Amino acid sequence: MSVKKKFLFKSEVKELLNLMINSLYSNKDIFLRELLSNSSDAIDKLRFFIVSNKDKNIKFNDNFYIRLLIKGNKLIIRDNGIGMSYDEIINNLGTIAKSGTKEFLNKINKNNNLNDNLIGKFGVGFYSSFIVSNKVKVHTRHILENNKNNSILWSSKGDGKFFVKKLYKKKYGTDIILYLKESCKEYLNKDNLFKIINKYSNYINIPIQYKFFNKDIKKYEWKRINKYDAIWLKDKSCLSDKEYKNFYYNLTNNLGNPIIWSHNKVEGLYNYISLLYIPDTSPWNIWNRDEYKNSIKLYIKRIFIMDDIENLIPYCFRFVQGIIDTDDLPLNISREILQNNDYFKKISISLTNRIFKMINDLSLNKDKYNIFWKQFGFILKEGLADNNIDKNKISCLLRFNSSKFNSDIFVSLEDYLNRMKIGQDKIFYITSDNYISAKNSPHLELYNKKEIEVLFMLDKIDEWMMNYLTDFKGINFCSINKDNVNLSNIISKNEEIFVDENNSSFLNRIKLYLSDLVKDVRLTNCLDKFPVVLVTDSKDISTQMLKLLRATGKDVPKIKYYLDININHILIKYIRNIKDDIIFKKWVMFIYYQALLIETNSLDDSVNFINLVNDLINGFIIL
Ligand code: ADP
Repeated sequence: MSVKKKFLFKSEVKELLNLMINSLYSNKDIFLRELLSNSSDAIDKLRFFIVSNKDKNIKFNDNFYIRLLIKGNKLIIRDNGIGMSYDEIINNLGTIAKSGTKEFLNKINKNNNLNDNLIGKFGVGFYSSFIVSNKVKVHTRHILENNKNNSILWSSKGDGKFFVKKLYKKKYGTDIILYLKESCKEYLNKDNLFKIINKYSNYINIPIQYKFFNKDIKKYEWKRINKYDAIWLKDKSCLSDKEYKNFYYNLTNNLGNPIIWSHNKVEGLYNYISLLYIPDTSPWNIWNRDEYKNSIKLYIKRIFIMDDIENLIPYCFRFVQGIIDTDDLPLNISREILQNNDYFKKISISLTNRIFKMINDLSLNKDKYNIFWKQFGFILKEGLADNNIDKNKISCLLRFNSSKFNSDIFVSLEDYLNRMKIGQDKIFYITSDNYISAKNSPHLELYNKKEIEVLFMLDKIDEWMMNYLTDFKGINFCSINKDNVNLSNIISKNEEIFVDENNSSFLNRIKLYLSDLVKDVRLTNCLDKFPVVLVTDSKDISTQMLKLLRATGKDVPKIKYYLDININHILIKYIRNIKDDIIFKKWVMFIYYQALLIETNSLDDSVNFINLVNDLINGFIIL
């Protein structure tokens, strides 16, 4: 027997273990799903290892299994997978390799709600064994370790330290030995275990076995308890929605619900089967480019080969979950070779078309599409900047809030074109922080009056997106926040305002006080209720873009806007008659600040503004 060595868990693991041990779970059962899934991964890894190391002549038993054993108060989960070496076990079970753990902990701390789904999603599955156990032992031998005495026993009570020593193990693979807590004895009941497996792990493609006594032959026999099917091999007509959904839950570790799926068998020049799902929930790390490529698992001849495969589908489709299984690629294909493989490129094109079709089909159901759009609209928009994808197809899938409808209605560009007014030659849009600000914006007044629909661009990335979306079906987009809007088609001659001498001297008087703050002061006929509005020069960046750049830490200079004045507004009429220059200046600053507040939703010197307002009101108060 070798020396027992003590190690300390890395701090993140300690924190995580603390949570696992001390939190109350609504559903403790998930530990079993996590451990079974680790065992199944270990077997998948072994299969892959064998096919990619054929020359090494590795001896292995192709009768793969995961076994459940109940011994006293111990529950043992045994697999004949790849096993772990000494270094691997210290690394894998003492630290958490994935950057996701920090995120996981943050999320839990924020919500104070340890949701069962989070555990699976964040890949911290092994530690969930401490939810039900006082002590956990892991006895393992790596497939390449021929000396049975060099097998490893890892053990921990989840109290900040773990121990590792060498201990004889007859077969390669891993035993996870759980010393169940007094309060968790229900996991020593085999029927209860079978029920849990039935619920969570039916689609694990490895037999999960239990030892039964066969009365006829008076012997114990290992019998399969999960009813695994590679459901994608079955004919569509033989599968129910429930089966598709159950497969999805297993595939994604219960990531929300699927809203649509597409199951296809392609035969001919190239052969593959795909089963793709669009979920109603986003994976937590979908924004992490280094960690998350997509969620399509590649199987070759029913063997799981790899996931997170770059370029398998366009990055803007990375929310799609599913599998693809092909007979036409070699089992030992590496990631690098895959990227340059012609066949892989063809599959990729075909999957891309398939996903487009799936999203199109989904768009026919408005309610479901709304769910999809709220979750993944952001991501889909990225596709407009991807040269390898048909921009027009993406444009057809875009949805926006609109000045014509309330906030939970999203319209397509096609709908917009159908509602355009006679003579209207642009798709008008406004960028804003949120629906209410857009809906109440002074920029909208004229368009509302003329019953011209305006699309609302409310996502942070919309401003960036508009660099790539210049037109739809030949009709150009036009921002109504900017001064390049040609209104001659909208405003009739008798509505135009002419700058006569009177007006001109009034404008010049205002400019005197605002020359450092605005580009120019002009008259406008676009306003009704509002006295003033700020308009961005078409050559300048927009307010929303400025906010976006500032949020990323960039030092961007302030925008100088045009101040457009509604000469017919009562407030402007009042100001116009003020003779006293000091009071006039105060009112000018007041209209400028209010226009700035509406345009930017915040003021750098709001206190000054309030002082100014109070000062002006004081002039009216008679006590
Ligand atoms: P994840 O499975 O998401 O990587 P876990 O915390 O569940 O996270 O497991 C950590 C690592 O420990 C796994 O990635 C794997 O390398 C190793 N491991 C866990 N269980 C087994 C097992 N039964 N056989 C071999 N390796 C295992």
